[in-house]
Amino acid sequence: MRPLLLANIGQLLTLRAPGKGTGPRRANELNDIGIIEDAAVLCDGGKIVAAGKARDVLRYPARKKLKHLKEIDCEQKVVLPGFVDSHTHLIFAAPRLVDFEKRIAGATYEEIAQAGGGIRSSAEAVRKAPVKALVQQALAALREMAAQGTSTVEAKSGYGLSVEGEIKSLEAIQQAAKAWPGTVVPTLLGAHVIPKEFQSKPQRYVREVCEKMIPLAGKRRLAAFVDVFYERGAFTLEDSEQVFEAATKHGLGVRAHVCQLSSAELWPLLRFHPASFDHMDCVNGEDIAQLARRDTVATLLPGANYFLGLEKFPPARTLIEAGVPVALATDYNPGTSPTSNMQFILSLACTHMKMTPAEAIAAATINGAHALRLAERKGSVEPGKDADLAIFDVEDYREIAYWFGGNRCNAVVLNGIVTR
Ligand SMILES: [Zn+2]
Repeated sequence: MRPLLLANIGQLLTLRAPGKGTGPRRANELNDIGIIEDAAVLCDGGKIVAAGKARDVLRYPARKKLKHLKEIDCEQKVVLPGFVDSHTHLIFAAPRLVDFEKRIAGATYEEIAQAGGGIRSSAEAVRKAPVKALVQQALAALREMAAQGTSTVEAKSGYGLSVEGEIKSLEAIQQAAKAWPGTVVPTLLGAHVIPKEFQSKPQRYVREVCEKMIPLAGKRRLAAFVDVFYERGAFTLEDSEQVFEAATKHGLGVRAHVCQLSSAELWPLLRFHPASFDHMDCVNGEDIAQLARRDTVATLLPGANYFLGLEKFPPARTLIEAGVPVALATDYNPGTSPTSNMQFILSLACTHMKMTPAEAIAAATINGAHALRLAERKGSVEPGKDADLAIFDVEDYREIAYWFGGNRCNAVVLNGIVTR
C-alpha cells in the first residue's frame, strides 16, 4: 500500500469533534461538520497522518520521507469521511419482485408477510443458496456501495432463520469482507422473524437463537453484534430481552429493529446498553427523553419509508431537538429498501425529514460510526483514524444531498486503498 496525498481539496468535511466530547453528535453539534477549505489529507499505512489546510499538510515534516507517495488532485472538489452504512441486510439470494407488485396493487407489509411473502420467502432462497453464491452477491453489493462513497458497512444475517442458514450467512459475510478492502461489521439477526416450522411454537425458536446461534456465532467470532426485530408479528419484549441476555453472556454487542410499524416500550432494553435502536418511526416521548441521556444511537432508515410508499417518515426533528443522537443508513434489503446508495438516503433525510445537509452528513458518517461502536477509528478525518475517504464531484457539500437518484462519488479510499 502506497502512502497517499489527497491534494487541492475545495471543501474538506473533517467531522472532527466540535468540543472535548467523544460521544455521538447531538442537537446543534450535528450541524458542525468541521469544514476546511483549500485542504489536503495525507495517509500512510492505511491511516490518516495529517489533515487540514493544504499549506500545513504540505509542510508536514514526515512527508518528504514517504517513498512512492501517490498524489490525487481533487480539483477543488469535496472530500469527506467515507459513509458508514450502519444497517444493511447484505446477505440475501434474490429480489422480491412478487411482493413489489403486490404492494403496488395495495397490499400492506403485514398482509404480504401473512400470505407467505416477506422475510420468510427470502429465507427459502437463502437456505437453498450455496455459500459461494451468497459471497459473490454480497461482494458485488459491497463494491456498489463503495462506488457510491461508503467505506464501512454493517452486514446482517437474518434470512437463514435456522442454525445452519444463519451461520452460513455469517460465513458468507466473513468471506466477502476478506475480499473487500473496506470494513464490514457482522451482525447475527437470527431473531428476524419466526420461521414457518416454528410458527406454532415461537418460544422454541427463541431458544434456538439463544442457545445455539448466539453461542456459535460468539465462539467462532462470526458476529460483533446481535440484532432482534422487536415488533408486532415478529418478537416480543420478553423475547428481545432473552436474545440480549444471551448476546451479552457471549460477549456480543446488541442492537434492535424497533418501532417501525407500531409503538413499543424501549426503556426495558436500555439496561443492555444497545449500540443502536433502528427505524424508530413510532418511538414514544418517554423513551425519547431516556435516549437523550444515553449513547444509544437512533438509526433512521428512510429508504424503507420511501419504498413502502409511506407518507410518514422517521421523526428526525423531534429526536434531534430532544438531544437524541441520530444516524442514517440504507437498510439495504430485498423487501423494503433495495438501495445501496447513501446519497439517496441523505436526499430523503433532507426532503422528507427536514434534516439539514450538514446534519444528514454527520448522521451518515460519525454517528454511523458511533452506532457501530467504531468512532475511535471511523467517521471523521483526523490523524490516527483509518484512511476512509470519499471524493465527490461537487463544489459544495450540500450538492451531495441535492442531486438525487444518481452518483456523484468520484473515488473512495478504503483503509488507505484507492478505488474508483
Ligand atoms: Zn433492517
